[in-house]
Amino acid sequence: MIRILIVEDERPISNLIRLSLKKAGYDCSCVFDGAEAADILETQRFDLILLDVMLPEIDGFSLMEYIRPLEIPVIFLTAKNAVADRVKGLELGAEDYLVKPFEIIELLARVNVVLRRYNKTAAELRVGGLVIDTQAMQVRRDGEIIPLTPKEYELLLLFARNPGVALYRETIYERVWNEEFPYGSKTVDLHVQRLRKKLGWEALLRAVPKVGYRLEARP
Ligand code: CA
Repeated sequence: MIRILIVEDERPISNLIRLSLKKAGYDCSCVFDGAEAADILETQRFDLILLDVMLPEIDGFSLMEYIRPLEIPVIFLTAKNAVADRVKGLELGAEDYLVKPFEIIELLARVNVVLRRYNKTAAELRVGGLVIDTQAMQVRRDGEIIPLTPKEYELLLLFARNPGVALYRETIYERVWNEEFPYGSKTVDLHVQRLRKKLGWEALLRAVPKVGYRLEARP
């Protein structure tokens, strides 16, 4: 299981991140200052670190110097939108940064991208009775392959990586079609209907009024 260390002194933010990542199938540990982070890193292995910049004891930038030799990817969390801060974080070797407040879907997307870059995502995702083999790009139920079009597969992957999250039509379109959502487009709805039918997911892939869709399944 992928293990993520959350270094964030603001408890509500830390809790929100932990719950969201847990729901997405990650194992998380939380520490609340830089010294605690250094301690836990000495004894435990992590695949990714979410690191707040403004921390008591040792700040995130100083801690980064300590983390770099461990070769664990880091995403900085920063309240400051200052360009200098972002540049500094990236110069110090961070993979990415998120400016607070951020949407959970953005957090999950960045986490997934960084883990993929490090080849740390699970090759297989299990959701709603399906096995998604992300290397073969195949979907199976009870060992039998369910044929999907490339867009249906991308759509399924987006839902599978964001279980329990209400996804806006616009977001879905932008992530799967890599283009801006054409106003009033029914493309997403049509593809979701097809996917539901093919997977037998009528009860799992739910419409969220005025928003879009949500996958009810637990990972
Ligand atoms: Ca802070």
